[in-house]
Amino acid sequence: MSVGSRFIRRCPVGCDGELRETTVSLPEGCLLSCSSCGQLVSQIDESRYETALTQFNSWQGTLPPQSAQRRHNQRAARIFKRIRLMLGFDERRSLRLLDVGCSTGALIMSALRNGIEAEGVEPAEVAARSAQAAGLNVRSSMLTDAAYPAESFHAVTLMEVIEHLRDPGDLLREIRRILVPGGLLVVGTGNAASWTVDLMGGRWDYFQVERYGGHVSFFTPHSLGCLAARCGFQLEYLETKRVRFAESHQASPVIYRALKVLAEVCSIPASFMDKGHDMLAFMKKV
Ligand SMILES: [Zn+2]
Repeated sequence: MSVGSRFIRRCPVGCDGELRETTVSLPEGCLLSCSSCGQLVSQIDESRYETALTQFNSWQGTLPPQSAQRRHNQRAARIFKRIRLMLGFDERRSLRLLDVGCSTGALIMSALRNGIEAEGVEPAEVAARSAQAAGLNVRSSMLTDAAYPAESFHAVTLMEVIEHLRDPGDLLREIRRILVPGGLLVVGTGNAASWTVDLMGGRWDYFQVERYGGHVSFFTPHSLGCLAARCGFQLEYLETKRVRFAESHQASPVIYRALKVLAEVCSIPASFMDKGHDMLAFMKKV
């Protein structure tokens, strides 16, 4: 593919380093790696990216299926608990939170149940309307167009968003502007330096650009720390979880179940060594 038609032509973290080929093979060409920070990027072209982006602009959006609801709520409650702990807010103190890229509002609903004053912003119009119809305070807009007043929120969540962006720096700087001094940004994304990537390479579903509405930019704990520092944040706490050996459609049911059990065992050392593929980072505005 010619460089000119690529959606991403320079490192999304903002480095001057060149993008070099890796051994992670995908249909649109191998993933490229920034020679400076190690960020991995897709070689997808602009038009395929635009098509992939529309996938979650639906009434269901990214609402978890019923079977995953309990796990979603538990994970959300852990995130809110850590936010309160890091801000030094007890349960009685009012906490204002904005979920950026909130889709149909699953995280906002969890936040409200945890006594947090939560609202959201979502550019995908149908998903935003669905959240509004559920009674949630959601603006249908890009964050940069929503024009929230400066220092409006104690915390901002950005879950499964930055891997879709060519230049996440603009978004992080706007988030910094609307956070109170010392406010927290929580970023959830995949970990490109995980054992799952070492083991599965291009077979990992997370790298499939059409499957998740346009995943094109893949962070490591190091590259996420670089992005944070360039945008006026300090990475205060990072955790990674889970390992995968195969996707369900890549092995027979028996083999897949066996690999899943093995992955559960490996997920414990992976978390200790920041090698899990689910990455969650808490950054403080400095
Ligand atoms: Zn870089």
